[in-house]
Amino acid sequence: MSDRRAFVAGNWKMNSDRAGAVALAEGVADLAKNEAWHCEVGIAPAFVHLDAVGRALRAKNSLVRLGAQDMYPGGNGAFTGEVSAAMLKDLGVDFVLVGHSERRHVIGEGEDVIAGKVRGVLDAGLTCVLCVGEKLDEREVGKTDAVNERQLRSALAGVSAGEAERVVIAYEPVWAIGTGKVASPADAQEAHAAVRGVLADIFDAGTAAGIRIQYGGSMKPGNAVELLAQGDIDGGLIGGAALEAESFAGICRGAE
Ligand code: PEP
Repeated sequence: MSDRRAFVAGNWKMNSDRAGAVALAEGVADLAKNEAWHCEVGIAPAFVHLDAVGRALRAKNSLVRLGAQDMYPGGNGAFTGEVSAAMLKDLGVDFVLVGHSERRHVIGEGEDVIAGKVRGVLDAGLTCVLCVGEKLDEREVGKTDAVNERQLRSALAGVSAGEAERVVIAYEPVWAIGTGKVASPADAQEAHAAVRGVLADIFDAGTAAGIRIQYGGSMKPGNAVELLAQGDIDGGLIGGAALEAESFAGICRGAE
């Protein structure tokens, strides 16, 4: 067991209306306070709900961290439709997801764009949750570790060991996201250990030992305990199961 404190974050994606997002945030904040989970907890609503959700968390003096699902890497200016770090910080955001598989494979963000976003998030003093993971065809030909390594090296090029304290990695096998298919605890652990090995090579062993590596991909209350018990799995990035406070709580309870 390591002494890394697990970080369980909900990625709410493009779901809910404002009232629903606030109610969900309040539900998570109440459960987190009443049950005193052992993990750090975060929620990442859609941009348009960040203000209302941030207010709801502050009204409850909640320790639940507020995250954004994306960010433009540059400062305020003529970038139609984009959202800057300054805007996010103004709303109380403290972590940002970068390189989620839906941004890579649905929106079409390339590795250079993702590297730029990692730099922008870190330059802004925010925490970067960098998502990596292989597609099914890549897994089937044994390329899981190679894909993760390529994505890690390109996104983290130029990141210092000091900055790495504000980096969290989310290993999310693409075939497991939103599909109900979940990596076995042993397979996930193997991939996480390989990710940590790459981090040790990019930074150093001590730095790598301190970086949290979340698992993401159909994590649910029923499979969370076994996944989170693995030595290199330090929390989860949760999609579907984060859209209901009680099921999200069921995962957070598993992070002892
Ligand atoms: C995700 O979107 O990051 C995710 C892991 O989704 P789900 O939990 O629904 O697979």
